[in-house]
Amino acid sequence: MRTDAQAVVIGGGVVGCSILYHLTTLGWTDVVLLERSELTSGSTWHAAANIHGLHDSTNISRLQHYTMTLYKDLEAETGQSCGVFQPGSLYLAQTEAREHQLRLQEAKARRYGMNFHEVSRDEAERLHPLVDFDGIRCIMFEPDGGNVDPSGVTNAYAVGARQRGAEIHRFTPVIGTEPQPDGSWIVRTEKGDIRTPWVVNAAGLWAREVAAMAGVHLPLLPTEHQYFVTETVAEIAAMDRRLPSVADRDGEYYLRQEGKGLLVGAYEKDVRFWAEDGTPQGFGHELFPDDLERIEDNMMRAIDRVPVVGEAGIKRVINGPMIWSPDSSALFGPVPELTGYFCCCGIIPGFSQNGGLGKLAAEWMVEGEPSLDMFGWDLARFGYWATPAFTKARVGDQYAHRFKIHFPGEERQAGRPVRKRPVHARQTELGGVFGLNYGWEHPLYFDADTPDSAGFTRQPWWDSVGREALMLRERAGIIDISNFAKYRVTGPDAETWLNAVFANRMPKAVGRSCLTPLIGKRGGIAGDFTVTRLGPEEFWVIGSGMAERFHQRFFRAVPLQKGTRFESLTEAVAGFNVAGPRARDLLQRMTNADLSNEAFPFFRSARIDVAGISCVALRVSFTGDLGWELHVAEADQVALYDALLSAGEAVGAGPVGSRALMSLRVEKGYGSWGRDYSPEYWPQECGLDGLVRSDKDFLNREAWIKIKALPPRERMVLLDIDAPDADASGGEPVFLTDGMPVGQVSSGAYGYSVGKSLAIAYIRDGEAFAGREVEVAILGQPHLARILERPPFDPEGHRLRDSASALA
Ligand SMILES: Cc1cc2nc3c(=O)[nH]c(=O)nc-3n(C[C@H](O)[C@H](O)[C@H](O)COP(=O)(O)OP(=O)(O)OC[C@H]3O[C@@H](n4cnc5c(N)ncnc54)[C@H](O)[C@@H]3O)c2cc1C
Repeated sequence: MRTDAQAVVIGGGVVGCSILYHLTTLGWTDVVLLERSELTSGSTWHAAANIHGLHDSTNISRLQHYTMTLYKDLEAETGQSCGVFQPGSLYLAQTEAREHQLRLQEAKARRYGMNFHEVSRDEAERLHPLVDFDGIRCIMFEPDGGNVDPSGVTNAYAVGARQRGAEIHRFTPVIGTEPQPDGSWIVRTEKGDIRTPWVVNAAGLWAREVAAMAGVHLPLLPTEHQYFVTETVAEIAAMDRRLPSVADRDGEYYLRQEGKGLLVGAYEKDVRFWAEDGTPQGFGHELFPDDLERIEDNMMRAIDRVPVVGEAGIKRVINGPMIWSPDSSALFGPVPELTGYFCCCGIIPGFSQNGGLGKLAAEWMVEGEPSLDMFGWDLARFGYWATPAFTKARVGDQYAHRFKIHFPGEERQAGRPVRKRPVHARQTELGGVFGLNYGWEHPLYFDADTPDSAGFTRQPWWDSVGREALMLRERAGIIDISNFAKYRVTGPDAETWLNAVFANRMPKAVGRSCLTPLIGKRGGIAGDFTVTRLGPEEFWVIGSGMAERFHQRFFRAVPLQKGTRFESLTEAVAGFNVAGPRARDLLQRMTNADLSNEAFPFFRSARIDVAGISCVALRVSFTGDLGWELHVAEADQVALYDALLSAGEAVGAGPVGSRALMSLRVEKGYGSWGRDYSPEYWPQECGLDGLVRSDKDFLNREAWIKIKALPPRERMVLLDIDAPDADASGGEPVFLTDGMPVGQVSSGAYGYSVGKSLAIAYIRDGEAFAGREVEVAILGQPHLARILERPPFDPEGHRLRDSASALA
């Protein structure tokens, strides 16, 4: 066994073997995989191993598509069969919402060159004569769908990796992972130790135990999951071809051919957790007792749809464990607080995703960043607030609603509340309806009589949000911005450190702010921040709250000079944005500080007292309107909120939630990180290149220099869409009117104050010019749209700057 390796992968399931293989394809051949038992000894061996290409998340569809097309290449390369059957998959929609989901996926498939299209009932009956298609309103066909052999795939990766020099040691459990002072790790086994710069936790069912060896808590919990295989079905035995699989997600089961019978699996409502206190070390190729009664409802729906299921006897039942994260997406990426510790855990559809995850994991380690934006899958999306109780409640909910449609902006109740600010009770009295924002309960809008709901079309709360948006545009609004991430950097070298991290030059004068991108390893936008100089040696940095842990990776990459201190203020400090044309009237009643345009211009800051409460005040607003951000100690939050609300009454102002804020910022064309800005986009593509100072050093400057002179591949634009009853939300593909794909929406909203359905989109360079007509696939159907020359709300920025014409 090697004593040194470039990476040590822990776990020889399908995911660990794929990562090992992909590391070798990127040139890391001195890599080792350690497996406690035989390969495939976790969830892998007993999987139904269905494969699908399409997913609600665009990047996951791309990753799954890669996986599905890899299997045949892998067989050709290694000579090891992956047992691939690709007779296709039929996707059935029983409801209008499911139809919208499938049509949207079909449009995405056209955009990204994937194979997924609608078929008629006649065609579907020809493809699968055993299905009763009554009540089905839309049928899609994915010709590459099917299933693979779990052990064949895992072994093919192992063969491919070994052929390039990787070592695999079976029956070699890892018993310790110890960080070393030089940033490397010692991985301990009873057969010897290995020193490595990268530990990869791909320990599947045991990921929690392996993470704990490094002091890491992963929010994961296993459940039982069952499928059964029928005896031979005469109609299938008589066929000379294989039947496509059936994805009847409204029926909450999956179904495919297995041998000459059928395999049916179900995600039942009566979820059974397993190994809550830890996965037993000795658990091997074991299964749980059958419990088909638990999945009876799902089975009955499968029988209604495919009657032969009810006629054939049951040959085999598999009830095995699988391990889930709170949102059923993988916990992926390096642990931000550690150096060189990578996780790829909690993968549910491992056979649709192993290839893409292996490839992106290898890119992340070898090249420093994955080529696709994986924020939605990054383990950093969960903080310490994702407690075991939260995890259990969420996993239960995810399991029981495995095939539920993920509507844009959906908020699930399970496991909440986790974190509340003191002002939560007051906001509840005001009718606050809350969402979950990086663990915080955060107001979406204020109208308790209109409960939250989710759908692809406009929901009942659409009007409530509109009232708040208009109140702010006409008078003023008070927005809770406590969910923003806030950091303080102090010390004699604070400015130097910040300049070494961020792409823009830090403000020289006290009371000045700057906007700055954070550049990623490939030159894209890893973050966007407002940095304010509050004192000669004191800076405040404000960024995206949900990305606080994600950004730690970047902040840790630049060592702090002695005497420089970096601290997060996110928990200790709360905040409100008071914005709208009457924001000054509202606030001036509460402070002796001079808030006139001359004394407190746009983009300036100061420590002032408001209602006797000490605040850090910044003259900025994400609404694009006249406004101030007020940041206060959390203990003062309620007092400040009450004072603002009471002063607001005099000018007709009230509370405004985050849904209205999203609409207001889109009217102004402001991009938002995690939606419109991401590491996939270059500064020159989203108009942030003017904020990158090439004449100074900053984190990943070399990546920026490489791409700086390149023309944009796509450009960020604002679209005005003819959309009467549904707005774009992000991910919708964009086509030219002749059907040629040209881009995709990154976020969208109805602009209440401008009376337009709007979307921020990335459009291929050359087509991204003002007035260009395009079609946006909202609900999967073409909606005519025009590229706007300027944002429809206050394009000159008079309101924000309070310049003469705004006052006129
Ligand atoms: C009944 C059932 C049906 C399923 N059907 C499908 C399906 O149709 N399609 C699909 O895509 N997915 C399906 N899955 C899910 C699929 O099985 C998983 O997504 C996949 O197997 C996860 O693989 P993994 O490599 O992450 O984890 P695992 O397979 O759990 O592998 C982890 C490995 O790590 C090893 N290990 C653990 N601790 C250590 C240690 N300390 N040292 C060394 N090695 C260690 C283990 O022995 C194990 O081999 C199904 C799962 C179940 C339970």
